[in-house]
Amino acid sequence: MKNAVNSNQTNGQWYGTEPEIPRSAITETINTDVLICGAGNAGMAAAIVAGKQGVDTLVIEKNNTVGFIKPYMGAIDTKAQKRVGDKAKIDKEEIVQELLNYGTKYTEELQIYGPDYKPSKYLGANKVDEKLVRLWADESGETFDFLADELSEYGIKHVAEYDVGDGYHGVFKAYPVHTKLLVPFIKGGPFAIAHAGVYVLEKFFAKKARRNGAKFMFNTAMVKIIKEGNRAVGVIAKKKNGKFIRIKAKLGVLICTGGYAGDEELVAKLNPEATAVSTLRFTHKGNYGDGIKAGIWAGGEKEQYPSAMLFDRGPTKPGGKSGLPIRVGGSFDSFFYGSQPFLKVNMDGKRYCNESVPYDIILNPLQNEKNGVACMIWDANYWKHIKQFHTIGCSRMIPSSSKPKTYEGMGWFMNYGLNLMMRFKGYIKKANTIEGLAKKLKLPVEDFKSTVERYNQMAKQGRDSDFGKPAGDLIALDKPPYYGITNAGWLITTMDGLHINENIQVVDKEGTPIEGLYAAGDVAGGFFANNFYPELIVGVAVGKTMTFARHAVLHMTGALNEK
Ligand SMILES: Cc1cc2nc3c(=O)[nH]c(=O)nc-3n(C[C@H](O)[C@H](O)[C@H](O)COP(=O)(O)OP(=O)(O)OC[C@H]3O[C@@H](n4cnc5c(N)ncnc54)[C@H](O)[C@@H]3O)c2cc1C
Repeated sequence: MKNAVNSNQTNGQWYGTEPEIPRSAITETINTDVLICGAGNAGMAAAIVAGKQGVDTLVIEKNNTVGFIKPYMGAIDTKAQKRVGDKAKIDKEEIVQELLNYGTKYTEELQIYGPDYKPSKYLGANKVDEKLVRLWADESGETFDFLADELSEYGIKHVAEYDVGDGYHGVFKAYPVHTKLLVPFIKGGPFAIAHAGVYVLEKFFAKKARRNGAKFMFNTAMVKIIKEGNRAVGVIAKKKNGKFIRIKAKLGVLICTGGYAGDEELVAKLNPEATAVSTLRFTHKGNYGDGIKAGIWAGGEKEQYPSAMLFDRGPTKPGGKSGLPIRVGGSFDSFFYGSQPFLKVNMDGKRYCNESVPYDIILNPLQNEKNGVACMIWDANYWKHIKQFHTIGCSRMIPSSSKPKTYEGMGWFMNYGLNLMMRFKGYIKKANTIEGLAKKLKLPVEDFKSTVERYNQMAKQGRDSDFGKPAGDLIALDKPPYYGITNAGWLITTMDGLHINENIQVVDKEGTPIEGLYAAGDVAGGFFANNFYPELIVGVAVGKTMTFARHAVLHMTGALNEK
C-alpha cells in the first residue's frame, strides 16, 4: 500500500483534494474511544498510555506490522538520569534556549566571531513553537519514567547515556539527554552497537499495549478524517483488499502517521534544500504524508518551514551527485564514518567549512558546492583520531563509559567490518599516496594536495586559521594508506507537519483547535526548522514524539486535569 490516498483529483496544491468515498463503498463501522492512526514511535507510546487509561483503544497501521522504534529517547529528569546524579543533570532553561537557537548560520558567525564563538550566546532562527519545546522539557521525564515502568516487566531497563566527552562537539555543546530502553538479551561484546535493541523494542511496545487493552488492525490505512461541525469524530480507512471502513472515535483521533520521506517528489517540492544535499533516503515503509494531507483536508494547516532530519552519511560513488533520484537505503547502505570530523573537501579539492559541526550543519553548505557532495579523507591512524574526536549519539564509535552500560559505540571490530563492506561496494577508496587518492576520488590532484599540505601544517601549529576547527579535532593526515569517500546527506525523515497547540491538538489557520483531532510525531510540526536536527541533544526527535503522544492521550481522556 504505497499512498493510501489515491486521489486523482487535485486542487493544484501538493496536498490534493479530499477523496470522496461513497457511503455504499463503506463495508463496516467500528466504534472505539481513542483511535490511533499509525503504529510507529508516537502511535505505540500512545497505545500504551491509552490502554492504561482504561479506555477502548484501537490502533490502525498501514503496514502489516508495528513500525520501527528507535531506542534513543531524549529526555530530562528521568529516574534513570537522577540515578546517575550530576553526570546527567541538565539545566532545563539552557537546553530550551539551545533548541530555540539551533539553526543559526553558525559557520558564517564563526567566521565573524572566531573559534571561541558559542552559538547559544546568539539569537537563532527561533522559527519553532517555544511552547512545544518547553512541553518536551517539562514532560519528557515523566513520559519515559512511565514507559520504563510499563516495560520493566519484560526486563527492559531504562539507562542514561551521560558520556559526552568534554561536553562539546567543536564549539557546539552536547547535553546528556540521551536515555535508552535496553532490551535484556542483547549483551554487547564486540557488537556493542549503538543500535542495541533496535529491532526488538517495538515488539515489547506492542506486547505491552495489547496487555493494557489496546487493539490493532494492520493493513489498514487512514484515508480521511470524519468531522461533525468542528469536531473530528473518526476516520475512513482503507483495507489492503481495497474495502473501506468507518471508525468512530468517541474521545479523539490521534494521527501518528509520520512524515513524507517515502515520497521523494513531495520532498523535492516542499524541501528542495534537503533534496539538493541528499544522496540516500530512508523511509519508514509507509510514510507518504497521508496524515498531513488528511489533517489539512480536515481544516488544519501545515507549518511553513520545511525541516528534514539529515545525517552526513549518504555515500555515493566518485563523480556522484546529490539530488533526485535519491537512492533508498538503511543503516547498511549509509556511511557511519561520515559524522567523524575528518578533513572534508569539495569537488575542487578544497575545504569548504569547519568539519567539527553537527551532521546537518556540515551538509547545508553543500548547496553551494559542486555536485552537492564532499569527500572525506582519513589515514591509517583513523582509530586514534576517532578516539580523540569522541563523537556522541548515533555517530559514536568508541564504546561509552556510562554506567550502567548503555552499549553505545560500535567499537573497532564493527566499524572495520562496515568500512570493509563499503570498500567492496566501491564507495571507499584507498591509496598509498595523496595523489593516488585524488585520482580515485576524481579530485583535482594539485589542489587537493595543497589542501592536505595546508591542513597538516595548520594541524602542527594547532590552529585552523581558515575555518576555526578546534585544535583537538585538527589532526594531520600523514600515515599511509589514505582513504576517502564521496559523501553527502542521508535523509532520515521529514519533520515539518501540521500545526498543533500545546495540547497536541491540530489547529486551523486561526489557531483554533479542531476538537477531537490530535497529531504527534513527524506528522506534526513546530519543533524543528530549517533542516536542522540538533543531534547533540541526542534522541530529542523520539523524545518529543513520545512525550507529545502521551500528552495528547491524557488530554483527550481528560486525565491531564487529574494530574
Ligand atoms: C534510521 C533512523 C535513525 C533515526 N535516528 C534518530 C535518533 O538518533 N534520534 C531521534 O530522536 N530520532 C531518530 N530518528 C527519527 C525518529 O525515528 C522519528 O522522528 C520518529 O520516529 C517519528 O515517529 P512517528 O511515530 O512520527 O513516525 P514513525 O515511527 O515513522 O511511524 C509512522 C507509522 O505510521 C504508519 N502510517 C503511515 N501512513 C499511514 C496511514 N495512512 N494509516 C495508518 N498508518 C500509517 C507508518 O507505516 C508507520 O508505521 C531516526 C529515524 C531513522 C529512520
